[in-house]
Amino acid sequence: MNKKLKKQNNNHIAEITFWGVRGSIPSPGASTAYFGGNTSCISIKYKDRYIILDAGSGIRIFGNHLIKENKISGNKVDLFISHTHWDHIQGLPFFATAFIKGNTIRILGPKLFGTPFEKVISNQMEHSYFPIRLKNLSADIKFCELAIGRYENLIDDITVETILNNHPVIDMGYKFIFPNNKILCYISDFEYYSDFYYQSLKKSNKPALEKIGRKVLSDLRIQFLNFIENCDVLIIDSVYAKEEYPKKIGWGHSVFEDIFEVATKAKVKHLCFFHHEPNSTDEHLKNIEKQYNTLNKKIKLIQKITVAREGLTINI
Ligand SMILES: [Zn+2]
Ligand SMILES: [Zn+2]
Repeated sequence: MNKKLKKQNNNHIAEITFWGVRGSIPSPGASTAYFGGNTSCISIKYKDRYIILDAGSGIRIFGNHLIKENKISGNKVDLFISHTHWDHIQGLPFFATAFIKGNTIRILGPKLFGTPFEKVISNQMEHSYFPIRLKNLSADIKFCELAIGRYENLIDDITVETILNNHPVIDMGYKFIFPNNKILCYISDFEYYSDFYYQSLKKSNKPALEKIGRKVLSDLRIQFLNFIENCDVLIIDSVYAKEEYPKKIGWGHSVFEDIFEVATKAKVKHLCFFHHEPNSTDEHLKNIEKQYNTLNKKIKLIQKITVAREGLTINI
């Protein structure tokens, strides 16, 4: 590698910060204080703008942070919503930046069947649920529906790719390719296509469908592996231990073991377990981090394994 290229690769281009790492429901309390109890929200500071991944309750903390930093007006925000389950949109009505004139917020998310994406998002601010309408917020708010594919001109000089996540609603995974060729993948929520998952599908299917099922499953695995292959940072739904999973098949979440295995195959550099179960205590999550780092030490295929926690920053 020549010196110039090496220098370029060592330069950080974006700063990724976690504001909410939980799934399903906020879970504050003494037993979750270290990793945090807010639901999904991540910010990526890139040049003069912010890319936000999901609007769980963590987005409230991010909005307060901007105000504390005196970034009150003039903010450019691209908010990518993976899907419209409650824990990924519930923070939006409490995002201070949206209440301030002079801020520009673009909300991007999957094109849904039937009801437009904008309508599903704004429905949570109907008068039965919330006192203020989305249309009454002072920031300039626009919506953008995305399909599965590759976008070259969506944000500045970043290439964005999308993939459909296996989850019981239309749910999108995102890949951001930065101009220094660093890659971030965000996959939440997602149930991995494991053998066990396949077996349980098979039981509920007619035997004639079995052959088709295995081919589809193998294609989906390849497609997923290709999507995350060689990425620098993979932030991914990892919720259950293998023993818990049989009771939760089809709920749309993955097993730690499966994610570790696929990330290893895909040569991911930094694996970040995300979307923690609300009842997972700090002690449990610290053990998970220790367990997978010990396992990884033997094979050394992944450079770093982290359990996401509020306030953690990763440079890319
Ligand atoms: Zn979720
Ligand atoms: Zn979900």
